[in-house]
Amino acid sequence: IYKTKRGLMIKAGPVCYRTLSEDKSYTLDAYLKIGGYQAFKKIIREKIPRSDVIEEIKTSGIVGRGGAGFPTGLKMSFMSQDSKQTKYLVCNSDEGEPGTSKDRFILAQNPHQLIEGMLIAAYAIGASVIYNYLRGEFIIPFERMESALKESTKAGLVGDRILGSDQSIQLHNVLGAGSYIVGEETAMLESLEGKRAYPRAKPPFPANEGLYGCPTTINNTETLASIPVIMEKGGDWYRNYHSKDSGGTKIFCISGHVNKPCVVELPLGLPFTEILDIAGGVHHGRQLKAVIPGGSSMKVLPADIILKTNMNYKDLQEAGSSLGTGAVIVMDDQTCMVDTLHCLMNFYKHESCGQCTPCREGTPWIYRILCDIMAKKARLDDVYALTRIAKNIEGKTICAFGEAVAWPVTSFLKHFSEEFIYFVNHGRSMVTGRDLEHD
Ligand code: SF4
Repeated sequence: IYKTKRGLMIKAGPVCYRTLSEDKSYTLDAYLKIGGYQAFKKIIREKIPRSDVIEEIKTSGIVGRGGAGFPTGLKMSFMSQDSKQTKYLVCNSDEGEPGTSKDRFILAQNPHQLIEGMLIAAYAIGASVIYNYLRGEFIIPFERMESALKESTKAGLVGDRILGSDQSIQLHNVLGAGSYIVGEETAMLESLEGKRAYPRAKPPFPANEGLYGCPTTINNTETLASIPVIMEKGGDWYRNYHSKDSGGTKIFCISGHVNKPCVVELPLGLPFTEILDIAGGVHHGRQLKAVIPGGSSMKVLPADIILKTNMNYKDLQEAGSSLGTGAVIVMDDQTCMVDTLHCLMNFYKHESCGQCTPCREGTPWIYRILCDIMAKKARLDDVYALTRIAKNIEGKTICAFGEAVAWPVTSFLKHFSEEFIYFVNHGRSMVTGRDLEHD
């Protein structure tokens, strides 16, 4: 267990943050001490076929930990193997989803495990160049990645003729300029090409036409950092780690109204109640009201549903939401849902890139209505319009940002519409009784 300067608890699990108990956990020495780079060295020395590496990753059942939850091994197998083109691996270390604070610790505390994961993935897809794209604000993680890159290059693990073999893989860390939408994979490719981070229409998909028009695979930091352990202990070990239905581990970032906000690596599929216990329960002895289980763009679930749900991809989907990035945002019974949605939409209206009309016009429109409700200028029709506008954004945009806006709105209105209606009728919050406009 590690405690940050701000008091956030980080609990190391079997996959990520494994070096935390070592002095200077981010150094090559610390990583080698726990058996680091053994999986990659074995692959290079024994010339394990690429297809075998991909099969092992498929066996593990790991899905993308950045939010979309797409099977990682399958994604790797889509990669075009046209030998004339350079192939790229991009590690998405942008981590902009509100509530999410996991990748930054991998980058800062265990960078060598990520480098090993990137090297194995690059080998598997035949990529000769890796870009690790970090969020603009990640100064310390960037510095740690740079120094880890220097150490691994000096040790002959990165660069030309790795460990004397005929395998060459170049790795570059890139610091972004700080935007939410650059976390969308094709926007990241645009940014890497030196352009404004506008998401691209798909198809073509990056596996065929990605960075500089060449085959590219983009994976999340946590996903890639899990690969060395999968290769070391085997795909079956990972898949069966907790239960067959939901293999592996996931880093959960538990924030909001809990006694001990924390970042913990846990087996997938634990009941939500256990996760809440790990975070010390709801603060001030209050009751649980609602939870956003996977970052702010996922659907909110009221207490009676989330308290009966296991934290894995399948169960959360059946409950009406998604695991997303694993950012669990807890709200107590004193939370005003009008105020909360207003706060979320303030963020999203600022981050829309503006390329498509439903998102560019609809997001600020939703925000304006929420402002009007809080300013006592709204009518009941406006409350009903919120869901209508959100549904006209969902599925009608170039990228998934449209859903990121629509899902909070439709779910807040589905489960807590009485609070919005009360606010319009009484000019104050049903929960706090406060006139939020003047707070
Ligand atoms: Fe940009 Fe929004 Fe369209 Fe995505 S959905 S491309 S963020 S305008």
